[in-house]
Amino acid sequence: MPLFGIGSAPRCALGYEGDTMALSMREVAEAFVALEKSSRRTTLVAILGDLLARAETAEMERLVYLCQGRLGPPFSAPEIGLQAKLMMHAVADATGCTEEAIRHLYDERGDIGTVAGEILPAEGRGISLMEVYHQLLAIATASGRGAQAQKIGLLADLLRRLSGPEARYVLRIAQGRLRLGVGDATILDALATSAGDPSLKEAIERCYNLSSDLGLVARVLREEGEPGLRRFQARPGRPVRPALAQRVASPEEALRRLGRCQAEPKYDGFRLQTHRVGDAVHLFSRNMEDVSGQFPEIAEATLRQVGAESAILEGEAVGYLPETGEYLPFQVTVQRRRKHRVEAMQEAIPLRLFAFDLLYADGREFLTAPLTERRAALERLVTPTPDSALALSPVLVTDDATELERFFDEMVSEGLEGIMVKRLDGAYTAGARSFNWIKLKRGYRAELADTVDCVLVGYLYGRGQRARFGIGSLLAAVYDEKRDRFQTVAKIGSGLSDEGWVKMRELLDQDSVPHRPARVDSVLQPDVWCEPHYVVEVQADEITRSPLHAAGRDGEPTGYALRFPRMVGWIRADKHPEDATTVEEIIEMFRIQRLRATSAL
Ligand code: AMP
Repeated sequence: MPLFGIGSAPRCALGYEGDTMALSMREVAEAFVALEKSSRRTTLVAILGDLLARAETAEMERLVYLCQGRLGPPFSAPEIGLQAKLMMHAVADATGCTEEAIRHLYDERGDIGTVAGEILPAEGRGISLMEVYHQLLAIATASGRGAQAQKIGLLADLLRRLSGPEARYVLRIAQGRLRLGVGDATILDALATSAGDPSLKEAIERCYNLSSDLGLVARVLREEGEPGLRRFQARPGRPVRPALAQRVASPEEALRRLGRCQAEPKYDGFRLQTHRVGDAVHLFSRNMEDVSGQFPEIAEATLRQVGAESAILEGEAVGYLPETGEYLPFQVTVQRRRKHRVEAMQEAIPLRLFAFDLLYADGREFLTAPLTERRAALERLVTPTPDSALALSPVLVTDDATELERFFDEMVSEGLEGIMVKRLDGAYTAGARSFNWIKLKRGYRAELADTVDCVLVGYLYGRGQRARFGIGSLLAAVYDEKRDRFQTVAKIGSGLSDEGWVKMRELLDQDSVPHRPARVDSVLQPDVWCEPHYVVEVQADEITRSPLHAAGRDGEPTGYALRFPRMVGWIRADKHPEDATTVEEIIEMFRIQRLRATSAL
């Protein structure tokens, strides 16, 4: 029986890829309405789990992508790429309203999905989820001359067949912003629920960490069950979710935890996986996008220097001047992350990928192999070539604190961020933070050396000067990984220019929701709530305990808060909300801060 009074809908006879179609867009929209209304995570999981359980395999796979506001996994899905203006055009076409009238409503509501939801009829013509998916795919893949007009026409055709509530979500999917409060971890839980076995969660998560593809995970779960999930292996062409590092107070503490260990420079660039599949190379960013076109020199170097038919290497790409041996600062390196004028940028900012791990080579997956074995295989595989865009990170294996400290000082004096210290027998913990890797950053001796990556969950209008922008401060949260929740840690009122505040408000308004999002914990009530989406880097003086914030509260009257927080830089486009600093890390940073304070006495 469907949950929450969602009735059964007319079945459709049309098939795609040999699948019968069980799920109507009406059922999906009804579930989405329930998701949108809910502010409890357990309810989200139950609604979504129930919907997934009713779907055929192919529908389940597509539904998972649509819930993420996409048509496929992040590394291979075509983007729908319709701006609000063009959608307004299509809505006008489909409804017979004038464009002026639509624009007027859009200016009032601020969301084209809401507008279409209001003016299209309450009952649609009965369309299946798969039909909607395939029409969206046709829109996304229309290209060449006249593509815009074709896209508008296809969207208008689709809208004519939809009810108001269905159109509300279809247009939001087309913008990549569904605003249902559902994140990847929520979908993973819902998949386990759909299979009627919550104990599958761990196997489902593992499969996701190795594939970065929730749709594929859904398919494996449905078709092969637990054994399929457990035998699933990483494969070149699909990004592996990155292993993450913990932090400690000092080199001594790192050695206490790891014993003899491997230290490497900590480069301050962006993380990149390079996948060789025969004569093809795919490069994947930290947030699983295929960025192959952006860094041709790294792709070429992979083909030249990696002695395997197929392989997955991981490293940090950083701007590097071979003539002087200088590393470029992060702000300069990130300018390479663009799709246009690649050649000119390549000349201005040469990149070098410092490979530090090997995850796969010629049919063998290395994730569970100890670091020493992965490193030895990496060294065998890569032919060193002077001045090339691919090099191996140097390593120091030691159990001596003085030697480790010296290595650290040397790296910092070369302009690097610090060092990474790794457990010699540690596996590669895909998608998870563990003490197999420990980061020691420049300035670790200062009180709060590290910045915190926060997720924005709302904003306050503010008073005084800035009230004229309609935004005075940002409500920022960190991520509670265990509970899949965003817990507030700061109210940020500085670090942005006037233009920055205006732009920030525009962006946040696109994610605004009428009530506290289901996965957000907050004591403070902002003027505008937003779906967690944007990650920003925040510098603070210290971490304090405060009754005003929810981070790490865990039933206590006080949570953790950032003192004198200020934004540094702009939004971190390479991080998903779930990549923000975690509550656990905040607690760890608090512990380290206290240790320093006492040792300084
Ligand atoms: P942080 O972003 O401060 O949590 O530090 C972790 C990041 O450091 C990783 O995600 C990598 O992008 C980067 N990094 C730089 N050098 C290394 C290295 N030698 N080993 C692992 N990660 C590294």
